[in-house]
Amino acid sequence: MSQCQLCGADAAENTSLQPSGEAALCVVCAAGVAGEAVDGPHWQCLHEAVWSADPLVQGMAWRVLHGLGAPWANDVIDMCDPEQSVQDWALAEGLAALVHRDSNGAVLANGDTVTLIKDLPVKGAGFTAKRGTAVRGISLVQDNAGHIEGRVEGQRIVILTEFVKKS
Ligand SMILES: [Zn+2]
Repeated sequence: MSQCQLCGADAAENTSLQPSGEAALCVVCAAGVAGEAVDGPHWQCLHEAVWSADPLVQGMAWRVLHGLGAPWANDVIDMCDPEQSVQDWALAEGLAALVHRDSNGAVLANGDTVTLIKDLPVKGAGFTAKRGTAVRGISLVQDNAGHIEGRVEGQRIVILTEFVKKS
């Protein structure tokens, strides 16, 4: 038994990681790294872990953050920029675990139609996508569960899943 490398909890056990490596993780973190849903508050530990000098710890935190798709998680991802090798490792196996969900928690798939639930200014395009606009044939952004792409007013834009509702 040792301390969890992600959250610092006692009673961590050695857990093998995909695609490579081994880490001491508590039960909760181990489930999360494997792609299972975990209580939000537990993941406050990722704020620190994602800056770890240990590439394995940083990679695990990076992977979990991508899987969350929550606004705060995307903010952390934007601020932190791990080595490419760390990102590659983190996302190699993690991608399959990404689940895109709309503002109500409904699972989104490629080709779905969604409705915008608020006015969204489109950066760089000079227009605002209006609340209530239907976006048909969305595609999921592969490395971020918080992002989808769709066509609005003839332009392909990235939309945050927290601002859409599945139609
Ligand atoms: Zn833990």
